[in-house]
Amino acid sequence: MERLKKLLEDNGLKPTYQRLKVLEYLDRHIDTHPTAEMIYDALSRNMPTISVTTVYNTLNAFLQTGLVSAETITGTEVRYDLVTHPHHHFLCRMCGTIIDVDVTCPVVEAKTKVINGHTIEEVHGYFKGVCEKCNREKTECTKKS
Ligand SMILES: [Zn+2]
Ligand SMILES: [Zn+2]
Repeated sequence: MERLKKLLEDNGLKPTYQRLKVLEYLDRHIDTHPTAEMIYDALSRNMPTISVTTVYNTLNAFLQTGLVSAETITGTEVRYDLVTHPHHHFLCRMCGTIIDVDVTCPVVEAKTKVINGHTIEEVHGYFKGVCEKCNREKTECTKKS
């Protein structure tokens, strides 16, 4: 909790109880890339006073400071990700899992980060297909039959 408190302070945010709880959830579920509703559902069990609006406002404050990033890979919802290091995302069309992937991208690696005069501040790579786990299950099924 102290580490998360410091993280909020370092980003110029007052470490309120609700902000800490939202941040803690993101930190613990770093692999799931939760939606605001998922965070609200989980937190409201122990915090009956929290509202969906509070969760959204908190996430927006985090977004503005760059503490979290918003991923729209599924096209239907916003998934939140605690920003640790720049990475890209892979969406499995079979099980819907969003997986972090490290891909060397020439634009990210380039020192200038300018394309046709446009300054690039962020790069989001979205990859879609069938994840490793689903691929394995598929091959096992074919083997059995
Ligand atoms: Zn899958
Ligand atoms: Zn991620």
